[in-house]
Amino acid sequence: MIYADYNATAPIRPEAREALLAALDLGASNPSSVHRAGRAARAMVERARVQIGGAIGSRAEDIIFTSGGTESLLLAIHGAVLTLDGMATLIVSAIEHEAAAKAAAHAGVPVETAYVGADGRVDLEDLKARLAAWDRDEKGTPVLVLMLANNETGILQPVPEAAGLVRGAGGLVVCDAVQAFGKVAVNAAMLGVDYIALSAHKIGGPQGIGALWHRAGAPLKAVQHGGGQERGLRSGTENVAGIAGFGAAAIAAVRDLPKYAMLSAHRDAMEARLKAEGGVTVIGEGSPRVAGTSNFSRPGFRAETQVMALDLAGVCVSAGSACSSGKVKRSLVLMAMGADDALAESAIRASFGWDTKPEDFERVADAWLEAARRTVLKETA
Ligand code: PLP
Repeated sequence: MIYADYNATAPIRPEAREALLAALDLGASNPSSVHRAGRAARAMVERARVQIGGAIGSRAEDIIFTSGGTESLLLAIHGAVLTLDGMATLIVSAIEHEAAAKAAAHAGVPVETAYVGADGRVDLEDLKARLAAWDRDEKGTPVLVLMLANNETGILQPVPEAAGLVRGAGGLVVCDAVQAFGKVAVNAAMLGVDYIALSAHKIGGPQGIGALWHRAGAPLKAVQHGGGQERGLRSGTENVAGIAGFGAAAIAAVRDLPKYAMLSAHRDAMEARLKAEGGVTVIGEGSPRVAGTSNFSRPGFRAETQVMALDLAGVCVSAGSACSSGKVKRSLVLMAMGADDALAESAIRASFGWDTKPEDFERVADAWLEAARRTVLKETA
């Protein structure tokens, strides 16, 4: 099997598995307990906090453990809005993951859209004009929600520039770095944002564990109340094994950043072949992208047909468009970039990562071209 769906979830790294199992082997140990068993668990949690903080160039104490990227985004968006007593307007980019977009929609304050251009990047001129005309009495504090790398296209967003504009206007910035962490260097201070959401399972850590970084002094209130863990900002007994696995995965992912960057040469060669032999359009080809993501479309060859044909050939990829109850939903990300229906309906995503072999790219291209030759290429020959 060729696994080319790292943006959905990455296989667990050996280092993460080892740390996770070592934590499970501690036996009964609640990090809030004062006895020795509890202290051993606490030590594991705090070690991972240092590892994850270090991986993004931050202090350990600015890291809050959560159950994943979705919860980190909810905590950042709702937790920030709570501190503003509802006197806020969220500006959410048109290409955010549903975890961010839906958290924003349920935050109880108005939501505006930050548009993206055909290049898949947020329109900074539009953002600038919007902030210049901002009526604070009417709209309250602007809170921007902007991802660093898009999950469908891999396109990188100009986060430091956008954050400079918003923070310069007295606003706050939430950055979803779930798909960027472990693929490009993520430095909290250099991004210039107030909150950063991270998730372990996209970098080869366990599923169901994530973190929220918050700038020292950034306003934040808890949305989940209880025993007061994570300095009162996220109650609930910590997932010690998950946290230990996340810490080990973060160290390995940062170590492997140069190796990950080298995937782009193989990705580009695969795309060149698919374009030449299969007539595909590569989405975001001219924009800065993470090295291991490829989103391409062949109008007339529906995404779900491609995914099924590749699955039969032992290749796992995702549809750029999601299927629910038999109805095909076109990718909102591609639509936001101005793609027409035919392009958006036929886009699929192949994504690669830490355990990808160079020949995997060729195998994906071989399988795709074979499927296309039996169907869409035959029809148009
Ligand atoms: N943000 C982005 C960009 C994602 O791709 C994902 C997962 O697909 C999430 C957030 C949600 O992360 P998690 O699965 O850890 O809740």
